[in-house]
Amino acid sequence: MKVPGIIVIGAGASGMTAAIEAAKRGFKVTIIEANDKPGKKIYATGNGKCNLTNKKMDVSCFRGSDIKLIASVLERFGYKDTINYFSELGLMFKDRNGYIYPASGQASSVVKSLVLECEKNDIKILCKVTALNVLKSADIFTVETDNGNYKADGVILSTGSKAGILPGKLPKVNGYDITKKLGHKIIPLQPALTGIKCKNNAFYKEVQGVRCDGKIMVYSDNRLAGSDMGELQLTSYGISGIPAFQVSRYAAYSLYNKKNTYIQVDFMPDISSQELISKITYKIHGNPNIKISEYLNGILNNKLAEAIVNYAGINKNITGRDIKEGRDKKRIIGCLVQAIKEYKDKVTGVNEFKDAQVLAGGVSLKEIKENMESAYVKNLYITGEVLDADGICGGYNLQWAWATGYIAGNSILKSGEKYDKDKSDKD
Ligand SMILES: Cc1cc2nc3c(=O)[nH]c(=O)nc-3n(C[C@H](O)[C@H](O)[C@H](O)COP(=O)(O)OP(=O)(O)OC[C@H]3O[C@@H](n4cnc5c(N)ncnc54)[C@H](O)[C@@H]3O)c2cc1C
Repeated sequence: MKVPGIIVIGAGASGMTAAIEAAKRGFKVTIIEANDKPGKKIYATGNGKCNLTNKKMDVSCFRGSDIKLIASVLERFGYKDTINYFSELGLMFKDRNGYIYPASGQASSVVKSLVLECEKNDIKILCKVTALNVLKSADIFTVETDNGNYKADGVILSTGSKAGILPGKLPKVNGYDITKKLGHKIIPLQPALTGIKCKNNAFYKEVQGVRCDGKIMVYSDNRLAGSDMGELQLTSYGISGIPAFQVSRYAAYSLYNKKNTYIQVDFMPDISSQELISKITYKIHGNPNIKISEYLNGILNNKLAEAIVNYAGINKNITGRDIKEGRDKKRIIGCLVQAIKEYKDKVTGVNEFKDAQVLAGGVSLKEIKENMESAYVKNLYITGEVLDADGICGGYNLQWAWATGYIAGNSILKSGEKYDKDKSDKD
């Protein structure tokens, strides 16, 4: 009996792209999806608006076990290809400083356009079916599921990650388990693009809710592991906001490797220490009777100013007049400015997987061929976030998903026979 064409595991961003491309080439494609509907994670992307790619598409925005492979994927399917792809699916776009969204401002438009294209290409999407295992005998795959076994000539595994999913909603079996059984190495998984938990509870109690500009640096055993600048969100547990997200993977891996991990924040990155010292000294001369934190009025958010005074170990009740001229004054102003420019705290963790946007780690890229085929199992292709590649915030992770899906769908069974679409695909 001639066995069916291709089974894609996972109707997410990369799975649907891969399925569409394979189906356009004439293969019969079936997608197996554990959720009750396709593209569930896509709905949540970009705060429901879906930041689907970025104009500044560069390999430096990615981390992973084979940077050359990531670069080569982006060369073959980059920013412009994503725009053309979704343009052909009927989308128009909004450009927010290079961050690209569908013009509708709705992530659901992206899902709808992909699902429609799947339907147009006769792709069967089987929802509420979880793939449990992938076996290969001779040239035939058997995908074992909780709804029976499915045969295929080729399999594309696009199972994504558990980032952003509540533990109770996770599929029974994930792509890491399946690929590990097939011989693949999994680079340790860590939450990325998430908030950073820090030790100084008293400080965060004072500043929670404050949003301010700043530069955050993560140090691992005194080595600068990563840094970013922008709007920080100070929370009850530590630091969130995009700059914290961007460096969270470094904090996560540093802790995982049992290294001394701390953050340093510059709350006034655009102003030099000397400028700050001059400004505060000038304010003390002009208004000697106000409390020390008030000299930071108009410089830092009020709540942050008070917390910084405490952090610096300065008595918050002293006024300018209390500070003696000379060394004492210089020392106190110096301490204040250092606290603003070099706030330090120990990192105790990063948020859990369910609160992360993406997972760092995954199937090692060293074991993936240029066309996304497994180096170990012929005609098994692996795409998207299940692979060990993670991008920064800004449309990079979806770009990776579209690109790897596109390449896999266009490469699978390249020299193989096409499936006779009339044959049944279930055992
Ligand atoms: C809150 C949030 C916001 C985000 N915002 C953005 C953004 O704006 N821009 C951006 O670039 N990235 C964003 N991301 C990241 C992006 O969504 C993912 O990187 C991307 O969806 C990964 O695509 P994928 O195809 O690999 O996996 P997914 O899109 O997650 O799809 C995987 C699919 O496989 C299914 N599956 C898993 N295991 C099985 C199994 N055993 N059997 C059957 N089916 C299975 C899952 O149910 C899922 O539908 C965000 C992520 C989160 C959580």
